[in-house]
Amino acid sequence: MRPKVSTPAHKTADFGELVCSNSLKSDAENTAPWLLKHELRRLGSLAMRAAETTRVPGGHALTVDRDVFAQEITRAIESEPRITVVREEVASIPDEGIVIVATGPLTSGALAEDIARKTGSDGLYFYDSISPIVDADTIDREIVFAASRYGKSLDGSDDYLNCPFTREEYGAFVDALLTAEPADAHIEEDRAIHKGKVPFFEACLPVEEIARRGRDTLRFGPMKPVGLDDPRTGRWPYAVVQLRQEDLRAGSYNLVGFQNYMKFPEQKRVFRMIPGLANAEFLRYGQIHRNTYINGPTLLNETLQLKSDRRVFFAGQISGVEGYVESIATGLLAGRAAVQFARGEQPRAVARETALGSLVHYITHADPKRYQPANIAFDLLPTLEEQTRRQFKHDKKARHAEVCRRAIEALAPYV
Ligand SMILES: Cc1cc2nc3c(=O)[nH]c(=O)nc-3n(C[C@H](O)[C@H](O)[C@H](O)COP(=O)(O)OP(=O)(O)OC[C@H]3O[C@@H](n4cnc5c(N)ncnc54)[C@H](O)[C@@H]3O)c2cc1C
Repeated sequence: MRPKVSTPAHKTADFGELVCSNSLKSDAENTAPWLLKHELRRLGSLAMRAAETTRVPGGHALTVDRDVFAQEITRAIESEPRITVVREEVASIPDEGIVIVATGPLTSGALAEDIARKTGSDGLYFYDSISPIVDADTIDREIVFAASRYGKSLDGSDDYLNCPFTREEYGAFVDALLTAEPADAHIEEDRAIHKGKVPFFEACLPVEEIARRGRDTLRFGPMKPVGLDDPRTGRWPYAVVQLRQEDLRAGSYNLVGFQNYMKFPEQKRVFRMIPGLANAEFLRYGQIHRNTYINGPTLLNETLQLKSDRRVFFAGQISGVEGYVESIATGLLAGRAAVQFARGEQPRAVARETALGSLVHYITHADPKRYQPANIAFDLLPTLEEQTRRQFKHDKKARHAEVCRRAIEALAPYV
């Protein structure tokens, strides 16, 4: 629809405009972001080709000249004789034909309303509120303890780990939260969320905003210690941070209620003050921002089609992923599946062992009640077989290399 109608973040009329950083994340071999890019390259991704030709120095990361990258993609699309570009706001999902909805985190209001109507109001979200995730292996089990409040688990599981604070530790932690450097707001609406000024968003306030409301507010909110007996003291701690095993993310824990608006390095510094997390490795940092996305687990099948209307596909950030490359990835998969559908074939899902397959598996199988958009990380991929895990027990690099080897092998038939 650009440039006739713009969004709060885009500035040009180009396709593939990267609205913020120019980084497509790590390109260091055998990392999860590399694996996803490697698979995309194997499948002939236009965006990956454009990234290669517009690459600028960025250490281990694949960084691009944003303007030239977008121009390159625009040129490729506009010069393709079988594509007709129509620059117009689409107000509803067309009633006929094959449709790929890829309107991104800032989907225009009219279309968002139509999607909400067609998917049910529970099916579409307008804000992201993501809490950090830590690698389970890096949690200090000598300090944290497993327990549910008053010995009863609210959801029937005993997956909570509790990080116990003394009064002094809590005081220092609150001070650090209050002085941590905030993330840069990309758009005006994000600034309002940051200040807790989006009224219906009260339940997902940034943790540092809760701290600003009073020194004890956290202790009576997400850091409430009541009913949590610390086996080492036999008493309730002064405050706790609860860690919940991440649904469908093997070996990782979510810091419950710790959505926040702090810079990533600040999150690392401040959250490592939590007892038991001094050496924690963060697989994902907290974020809060304006974001339109659907509840994938309820609505989509593994080829990114609406379960209720198979001719409609969702791709990009609106399908429930987070990040440039993840958006590119679901775009490529939806495109390929749509071609198969157009030919009257059954669209084929990509193997679960691949990064692409795991990303889609997450957005279509995670717990719909707590759905949060996913970015690629190793914990989304299936764990290795017991024997291989044991073989590489003390060598994380080797384990990751093995996960990548398995993924590349599993992608071959799909290629
Ligand atoms: C402010 C902001 C900053 C971000 N920064 C980063 C970052 O630094 N790194 C990162 O990895 N990810 C970032 N993201 C997340 C996300 O990865 C990017 O937004 C990514 O561009 C999403 O790709 P997409 O193709 O799904 O959507 P987009 O790139 O937004 O493309 C969707 C297109 O659809 C158009 N459109 C919307 N509604 C309609 C309509 N009704 N009719 C017709 N066209 C329509 C839009 O104009 C847009 O051109 C950011 C998101 C936002 C909002």
